[in-house]
Formats: sequence, structure tokens, C-alpha cells
Amino acid sequence: MSGIIWLPIIIVAFGVLAYRRSPLATWTGVAAVLLLGVQLTGGGLSLLPWIVLGAVGVLLNVKSLRRSVLGKPIMKWFKSVLPPMSSTEKDAIDAGTVWWDAELFSGRPNWNTLLRTPRAELTDEEKAFLEGPVEELCRMLDDWKINHELDDLPPEVWSFLGKHRFFAMIIPKEYGGLDFSARAQSEVVMKIASRSGAAAVTVMVPNSLGPGELLMHYGTQEQKQHFLPRLSRGEEIPAFALTGPWAGSDAGSMPDAGVVCKGEYKGKEVLGFRVNWAKRYITLGPVATILGLAFKAQDPDGLLGQQKDLGITCALIPTDTPGVEIGLRHDPGGAFMNGPNTGTDVFVPMEWIIGGQAQVGNGWKMLMDCLSVGRAISLPALGTAGGKAAARMTGAYARVRRQFKIPIGRFEGIEEPLARIGGVTYRMDAARVLTATALDLGGKPSVLSAILKYNNTEGMRQAINDAMDVHAGRAVCLGPSNYLAQTYQTVPVAITVEGANILTRSMIIFGQGAIRCHPYVLKEMLAAADPDEQAGLKAFDDAFFAHVGFTISNLVRSLVLAVTGGRIAPAPDLGPTSAYATRLTRMSASFALLADIAMLTLGGDLKRREKISGRFADILSHLYMASAVLKRFEDDGRPEEDLPIVRWALDDSLAIIEERLDGILRNFPVAGVGPLLRPFVLPLGRRFRGASDQLGHNVAKLLLSPSATRDRLTDGLFLQRSEEDPMGLMELALEKVIAGEPVERKLAKAFGASVNTVNMDAVLEKGVAEGVIDAAEAELVREAMDITTRAIAVDDFPGVEKKDKSAGQEAA
Ligand SMILES: Cc1cc2nc3c(=O)[nH]c(=O)nc-3n(C[C@H](O)[C@H](O)[C@H](O)COP(=O)(O)OP(=O)(O)OC[C@H]3O[C@@H](n4cnc5c(N)ncnc54)[C@H](O)[C@@H]3O)c2cc1C
Repeated sequence: MSGIIWLPIIIVAFGVLAYRRSPLATWTGVAAVLLLGVQLTGGGLSLLPWIVLGAVGVLLNVKSLRRSVLGKPIMKWFKSVLPPMSSTEKDAIDAGTVWWDAELFSGRPNWNTLLRTPRAELTDEEKAFLEGPVEELCRMLDDWKINHELDDLPPEVWSFLGKHRFFAMIIPKEYGGLDFSARAQSEVVMKIASRSGAAAVTVMVPNSLGPGELLMHYGTQEQKQHFLPRLSRGEEIPAFALTGPWAGSDAGSMPDAGVVCKGEYKGKEVLGFRVNWAKRYITLGPVATILGLAFKAQDPDGLLGQQKDLGITCALIPTDTPGVEIGLRHDPGGAFMNGPNTGTDVFVPMEWIIGGQAQVGNGWKMLMDCLSVGRAISLPALGTAGGKAAARMTGAYARVRRQFKIPIGRFEGIEEPLARIGGVTYRMDAARVLTATALDLGGKPSVLSAILKYNNTEGMRQAINDAMDVHAGRAVCLGPSNYLAQTYQTVPVAITVEGANILTRSMIIFGQGAIRCHPYVLKEMLAAADPDEQAGLKAFDDAFFAHVGFTISNLVRSLVLAVTGGRIAPAPDLGPTSAYATRLTRMSASFALLADIAMLTLGGDLKRREKISGRFADILSHLYMASAVLKRFEDDGRPEEDLPIVRWALDDSLAIIEERLDGILRNFPVAGVGPLLRPFVLPLGRRFRGASDQLGHNVAKLLLSPSATRDRLTDGLFLQRSEEDPMGLMELALEKVIAGEPVERKLAKAFGASVNTVNMDAVLEKGVAEGVIDAAEAELVREAMDITTRAIAVDDFPGVEKKDKSAGQEAA
């Protein structure tokens, strides 16, 4: 047999080995068989190829030899290119756990892992809380009044929150807390947020990263016994102060310092810190009774030991302590409490350090460890609430609002934003629930929490912007009946807090993901840093050669799966969405390949290449969000009617992933790498262009009428069937308008184009008189018109009131 015939056999054989991630020994064996075959079928027997194969085989398979000949110099090189990492960066990377994100990084996600995970459900107690105190709270909230008249929650709401332990959802029962699951916390925040952002933020903060969370994990027994019951009962209002004028995103660079000294506390001389700080933007700060404060501990006089810079430290400081100045309030566009505070020479006894003296200097690690849980719950729930409210109200508005004699939702131009709202909201909700599931399984998924925070707040921004455009003037003019503008105004808060979004996308998601979720990179880094050189070399060598095999495998898998459209990838039976799972598997392989090549060729420089890192972040995000969509559809029992929204969300995610892969290849910072890899990543060019117009039409249609799909999509919102409530009014208007439509069609058929809202009364009379419709039908249309008039109305205010306001400002 000639070489021409053997070449494809060799390529296929090695391709199969790479695709299947076969061990090195199998590669060597197969190489020997192939060599024998080549020689026996005419290549001629020759010793040299056997010597070469034998030498390579021994070198790679005999680990002790491989380590000393290859592993050692490679590890030396690896150490030299490893970017320097500050201790704060290291703590951030070490923090938390990984889950499905690691599967997505593997290039070969095992879908059964995801699909077999039972969805987190609510307990009876949690359901009762949602149906009881949460509903009652929502009925007490008047967001217009809160934001435009009171500039605060009413006193009765504050006491209701304390009485029903809304601030203690994360605190264990033994300390008087509610000890709710992540899923329950998410549902509570989502429902409150659908009623009032200010109330939701007020509830979120004590249940996110802050004194309660830190005390539970790191507090001393005495601190827990003292503070947790008081926090549970709402007797203490906590705030957490990390950010200052000079340290925002780069919180670790804070200038706030505490110097170890002796001072008087409870009549005795004790060790503590003399702390000075200036913080800003602190939520609940203006009303806080205890301040969780992060500062840098210093010990210039060596009172605690040799070390002078002890590191970031967290303390709990009563706000009535001498030297603490709780300043005025910021105005972040919502009425929740937020403001600056300072401390001047405040004596903080060691007893106030969270966890006591043993935890001095561990503050950053504590924060990073605890950040992921709250970040994965509160803001993602708030973002989803924004999407759900936008979906429900915009669909209704687009049906009741007519221009050019038809509901505006029937215009193709309006279908586009409607479809986006529906698809993005479904995706956010699916990811919200999936991540709560991961948390309830005991995980602290740091990368997923960043993905959720970023995508669900950006999703909310998208949905609210679209909703504003569809409502147009109805959403622009402020007033009690405007259910959108307040959310629109406070969207930037969600975008900014707990890791501002640009930073989260361009630095954190992939920066942390590449190390934490990658199957080998962290192992290599830890091995290279191991002070026991022998153990380090052994671990490094194992990880490195597995890593090489992993990269080669992903090269082959990326190509093969791209050419076959992912069809040959094993996928569970997902019915109508099976093909999406295989496409995502294909994208996962391409992502893993590019991620490896980027790390290999850019090394530490990748950190600065935020445009590349941001695209990787989008790919990982959408791999995750799309997985969540698949899981949600399965968990819901594959309801056929939801398929348009599911497909829209998945098509959109695939298009974004592919566009970002293309962007990485086009912009790869090392010359030649992009063109070289393109045939392995996008051999057939770009195939996914997002949802079709027809699919968008189908999604928009689902939002325009009451249905089980619409209810599932917006489940968990606070809704009242009351004309007194602006959202309730719109909902009732939708029902009436739909009920009246068949009557209008009869009239249109009988009287043609002369039917419109301006002459409707006359048309109705004529219709009844001529027997086209009966009196009851005429009444239906009148009612629909009447309620629509009220639902589309905007608020107006006496001009004099405005004059007074500005006069007041001038006087002030
Ligand atoms: C309403 C509100 C409530 C808050 N509540 C609290 C609280 O309770 N406690 C608390 O401690 N803090 C709180 N914060 C502070 C919040 O966490 C910070 O605002 C946030 O960390 C960003 O800091 P900054 O506003 O100073 O922006 P900066 O850090 O100045 O960032 C400005 C921009 O630069 C981007 N950026 C920064 N670094 C990078 C980078 N390396 N790569 C790419 N982009 C980058 C950011 O994404 C942002 O877009 C709150 C803020 C607000 C507005």
C-alpha cells in the first residue's frame, strides 16, 4: 500500500485518539501498529523509525525519565512566564468552588451531570413566607411615595422588615434567623424588587456580603451570640464599608488604615487598632447601627509580632463609637439608604475584629470567600425581576396600545424588542434558578456568581431599555402610574455594585475562570509554587502532559465538531432541544482550545488584553446561560408552547458565542495565530446568526396574550388584580381588550375602515341598531376602551407644585 493511502489512515487514527482523549500508552501502541502496517505494506522494513518511536515512547511513558528530561526545564520556563500575582489577586482566585463552569471549560461537558441535578425547590416554610409576609410587604410598598415623597421606606415598613426577619434570611435558626435556601432568598428578593427597588436593596444588603455573612463564617462564638440574634430581630442595622474615594474597583488599594495600639475598653487597657477611614457609597450606612469596616492593619511597633503590614482586616464597629462620623446621604436615584462615612482615630478593640485577633489580616480572603454567594443571589434576582416586569407589562401595553388602528405589538419593529425581552428574561430566570441550585448543593461558585451578576444586570438593562422604547411617552413621564422609569433610573446601581460590569466582564469572569475552571492550569500553578521541589515537579509534570493532550484533543474536537455541526457529539435525549446541546458541546471545545492557545501565547499579558478576555467572558457566560435554558426547559417538562422563547434564547446565545470566537480569531494579539486556528474553529465560517424573524414573531406573540407560557415566564412577580395598582390595571386592560377584539372584528367586517377609537361610540350604537352586535358586546368594547384610557394615561401634576419645588430649592 502506498503512503498516499496510509496518510489518511494515520490522520484518522491519531484524530480518533485525540478526540477520545486516549492515554499516552495507547498513542504509543497505535503508532507502533501503524508503523508496522506501513512497513509491511511496502514502506520497507527499516530500524530507524522504530528507534525513534521507541525513544519517544520511552521518554513520554516512563514518567521518571520524562520528568527529568522534559518536565523540569518546562517547569522552569513556566515559573519564569507565570505573571506575578498579588496576594489579593491570589485570594480572589482561590475563593469559592467550581461546578458546571468547569465542565464547560473541559471542551467535553457531560450533560448528564447537569440534567440529573435536581432543581432546588422551596420548602413549605419558604413558600408560606413568600405567600404571607412577602406578599403583605409588597402590598405595603408604594414605590412612587417611597422615592418621590418620603425618600425612604415608611417607618411601618422598616418595623415590618425587622419583625418578620427579612434581614435574617441567611442567619441560622439557632440565632433566630430564617435560614432560607438560596432559591428562597432569590424568590423573596425577586418579588420585592418587582414592587420596589428601594425595598429590595434594603433587604438584599444585610443578606449579601456584610456583617451577618462574615460573622457566621468567621465570627467568634461571643460575636455570633451577641450580634446574630440582634441582627435577626432587626435590632441592629448592618452596613458594610469597603469602598472609598480612592479605592473603588481596586478595593484592595484602600488607604484606610488601623495601627495596632493599646487603648481603654470597658474600663481596661486592651490591645486594638487606632483606625482612620473615609468610605463612600455605603448602602444602609446612614441608618446603620453597626458598620462592617475593611481597613489595612499595621503594626509598626511590633505589638503583635514581627510583621508590620498585617493586611486587610474586617471589624464590626458600633456607629455611635467616638470618632465615627456617619455623613449625609448620597442620592443614587433610588430612595434606599446610601451614604459616606468616616472614622477619625477610632479605637477598635481586638474584640471587634471579626473572628478576633486570629483573623487580623485575613479580611480580603474572607470577603472573597463570602462574595460569591450573595453575588449569585441578590442582583441576579433583582435583574430577573426587571426582565419579568418588562416582559409582562410591555406585552400587555403593546396589545392595548393602538396606533395606525392596530395594536403596536403587531408591528414588526415592536416585535423585535418584545422578542428580545422575552428571550433575555427566560435566559436570566433559567440561570438564576440553576445557580441557586448550585448554591443549595453547598457550592460557592465564584466564576458563576460573576457570570450571573454581569449577565442578569445587563439583561435587565436590555429588557428595561426595550420596555421603555415600546412604552415611549408612557414610560418617559414620571408619576405613580409609571411602573418602568424608577427601575430604568436605578439600573446603573445594579450595573455598578458588587463588581462594576465592565471590570467583571473584561477581567474577572475569564481571568478567574481560566484558572479556576480549567482542568490543569491551577494544578500547574500550585505545583510550580510548591516549596517541596520534588513533589512539585511530579505534580507539574502530570498536569502539564495531561494539559498538552487536552489541548491537542480540543484542536481535533473543535474541527471535527465544527465540520459535523456537533452531530457526532454524544448528547442526552432532550427532545426538541437535543441539537442545541451538541452545538454547545462543539462551542465548548472551540472555547477550550482558544483559551489554551491564548494562555500559552500571551501568558501574563492576557491580563492586559481585556478585549480578548471580555470576548472569552461572553463565550463562557453564554455557554452557561444557554445550558441553564436547556435545563430549565427539561425541568419544566418540555412545554411545547415555550419552545419559541427557548429557541430564541438559545439561537441568540449561539450567535453571540460564534461572533466572539470570530472576534478573538480576527483580533488575536499574536500575529498569525488567528488565521492558523480559524480552520479548526470556524472551518465553515459563521453559521449561527441568531433567531429568525419568524421566531421573533412567535415570541412576541406569546407576550401579547395571557397564557401559561407568559405566566411561567413571569412567575414570581408581585401582581394584584386591582385597577388601583398600575401593573394590575394594565393586566386587566389586556384581558378586556382581548375580550373586546372579536366584537371589533365584527364591526370592522360590517362597517369597514370607518371603525376606529375616535368614532367608536357611534359605531357601537350603529352596530347594535343594525344587529351586527348585541348590547352586551357593545358594553364589552366600551369597558375595554374605558380601562385602556386609564391604563395608557400618564400622570400630570399641578404646575404650581413644580414652581413651589424649585422655589424651595432656590431657597435652600
Ligand atoms: C448605589 C451604590 C451602592 C453601593 N453600596 C456599597 C456598599 O454597601 N459597600 C461598599 O463598600 N461599596 C458600595 N458601593 C461601591 C461599589 O461597589 C463601587 O461603586 C464599585 O466597586 C465601583 O467603584 P467606583 O464606583 O469607584 O468605580 P471605579 O472603580 O472608579 O471604576 C470606574 C469604571 O472603570 C471600570 N474599571 C475599573 N477597573 C477596571 C479594570 N481593571 N478593567 C476594566 N475596567 C475597569 C469599572 O468597571 C467602571 O466601569 C456602592 C456603590 C453604589 C453606586
